[in-house]
Amino acid sequence: MPYTLNKKISDLQPYDPISGEYRIRLDANESFLPVPASVKKALMQEISEMAFNRYPDPCCTDLCKAFADYYSIKPEFVTAGNGSDELISIIMQAFLMKGEKVLTVAPDFSMYRFYASLSEAQCVTLEKGEDLTVKVDSLITSCITESARMIIFSNPCNPTSLGLEAQEVRRLVKCVNALVVLDEAYMDFWDQSLLQEVEQYDNLIILRTSSKAVGSAAIRLGFAVANPTITRALRAVKSPYNVNTMTQAAGIHLFSHREELQQAREQLLSARDSLYKEVQILAQSYPEVIQLFPTCTNFIYFRSPKAKELFEFFGENGVAVRFMGDSLRITAGAPEENREVVRLLKDFFKR
Ligand SMILES: *Cc1c(COP(=O)(O)O)cnc(C)c1O
Repeated sequence: MPYTLNKKISDLQPYDPISGEYRIRLDANESFLPVPASVKKALMQEISEMAFNRYPDPCCTDLCKAFADYYSIKPEFVTAGNGSDELISIIMQAFLMKGEKVLTVAPDFSMYRFYASLSEAQCVTLEKGEDLTVKVDSLITSCITESARMIIFSNPCNPTSLGLEAQEVRRLVKCVNALVVLDEAYMDFWDQSLLQEVEQYDNLIILRTSSKAVGSAAIRLGFAVANPTITRALRAVKSPYNVNTMTQAAGIHLFSHREELQQAREQLLSARDSLYKEVQILAQSYPEVIQLFPTCTNFIYFRSPKAKELFEFFGENGVAVRFMGDSLRITAGAPEENREVVRLLKDFFKR
């Protein structure tokens, strides 16, 4: 008998966010800013003296402290991961038994379903309505009727760019027995985080990342924040050396340069605001073609009956954006990149 792949992996394709050469990449919600020279210099110095023959610190002690200091929380609540992607994978594997249910919403970040299926968990998806908001009452009801053991969603949401206010998230966490995994990948761009109160809940894990507002997708660094009981379990189930020494060093320098981080955040927000305003003007001129949603993130999201044609038009002009069936998601880039986006949109409508 020849060896065959099992059915949970036989149809999987390697992740390919987008292939091809593009002048402008606005498809992955990365920061358009380079890491500040002061941070780079300190990091380079440290790397030149690094003990490459030694394993990394498995507890990421200094890194968790730098992260915790930056957000004014306790380091005892923090677990570092090789990107928040790794943490999502670990959480699904460890906090769900085979066949147990995890509740997700749609549209939302596609990786949740992927890791749930690898963990042989059962994924129950609640479709968001026409307005794409998260309805907490429906989530609570579904969680109870399905006996879900976990709820996972992003807030603010990728791809819709919408946010759910802290008061509503709080209500959800308090009303369910399930573990709530709250992916705050974009919360640096909004002010409705539950980070400060994580210790009050026995069923909450908050995920954060260095890939967006912190501008360091390359180093693969994410964080899970939870009460000490959950944190102990997380640290016990992760692979011991999941965050390499260079990434730990980079993270420490990034989070210790508070001024630089906050300045970068301001720049990203102002780029987002100007892109949003320009596209909003177009949406008012062509309401039947662009339905723009409000944004709490570093990207914009709009529904359009011409989404596919627009996506192809952007591509032909060397601009990568994210196409999702009936809508487009466009990361706010540098000012000249955003001008190009607006120029292309105007050209498209003139045709
Ligand atoms: C970008 C993103 C992440 C970050 O993943 P990393 O593995 O930390 O780069 C997590 N969740 C959502 C919803 C995202 O959009």
